[in-house]
Amino acid sequence: MNSRQAQILQALEIPVWQLRSTRAGAGVESAAGEAAEAAQNAEIAAAAASEVQQPAHAQISRGAWTESIDLARLDWDALQSAVSACTRCGLCKSRRQTVFAAGRPGARWMVVGEAPGAEEDQQGEPFVGQAGKLLDNMLRSVGASRERNVLIANVLKCRPPGNRNPEPAEVAACAPYLMRQIELAQPEFLLLLGKFAASSLLHTEGSIASLRGRIHRVDVAGRSIPAVVSYHPAYLLRQPEEKAKAWADLKLAVRTMQP
Ligand code: SF4
Repeated sequence: MNSRQAQILQALEIPVWQLRSTRAGAGVESAAGEAAEAAQNAEIAAAAASEVQQPAHAQISRGAWTESIDLARLDWDALQSAVSACTRCGLCKSRRQTVFAAGRPGARWMVVGEAPGAEEDQQGEPFVGQAGKLLDNMLRSVGASRERNVLIANVLKCRPPGNRNPEPAEVAACAPYLMRQIELAQPEFLLLLGKFAASSLLHTEGSIASLRGRIHRVDVAGRSIPAVVSYHPAYLLRQPEEKAKAWADLKLAVRTMQP
């Protein structure tokens, strides 16, 4: 195992075991605007938050999105304002704050997760806490970071109480925001972490196990964006034996990103 591989395994917190026969020695194996414009946008945002049409089903569909024409007028900051004022589903009642995104449009990668947890709800940023630390380490192992070249967002912008799974109506209500984020950000690549990110953007109820390991396409506003599905970092913390698969997914993502 070379130092690069060791670095990646360390980032993924995949344990490195010594062979029984060489445990005492060196042999090691691994498991591997402007003010006016801003004011206008804020006004549009507030209106959009209350007026956007709610699609009838949980999955994000092109039809549902085209109904949400008001969001198409919003830039990134106005969209964030719209989200912060949103009352389209019941999660607005229990949230401390909305969790819009980490990073800025223009990042090559966009990571999509599920929903804010307790720490995200408190800090207003996606993927913080232990799962966020693991994600950051994984990204860093391939030369990526939320500070430089990765945009991170969730399917839901508000925390489900008790970290329960998102409900279909909540996903449907929040979907137009994610689609507009992707449209504005124009990422070259999507990394979909967990079942809800995958099912929402790929329109499938397939398991992560059945969806990972290959390149999918997500069509947004006339662009077909390559996407890889992998396990959510929170799941990896509970099932560390799956980290090797997440590492393989990350390598596939890097290969896909290369021209
Ligand atoms: S989860 Fe999404 S749709 Fe529901 S209140 Fe929050 S921002 Fe609005």
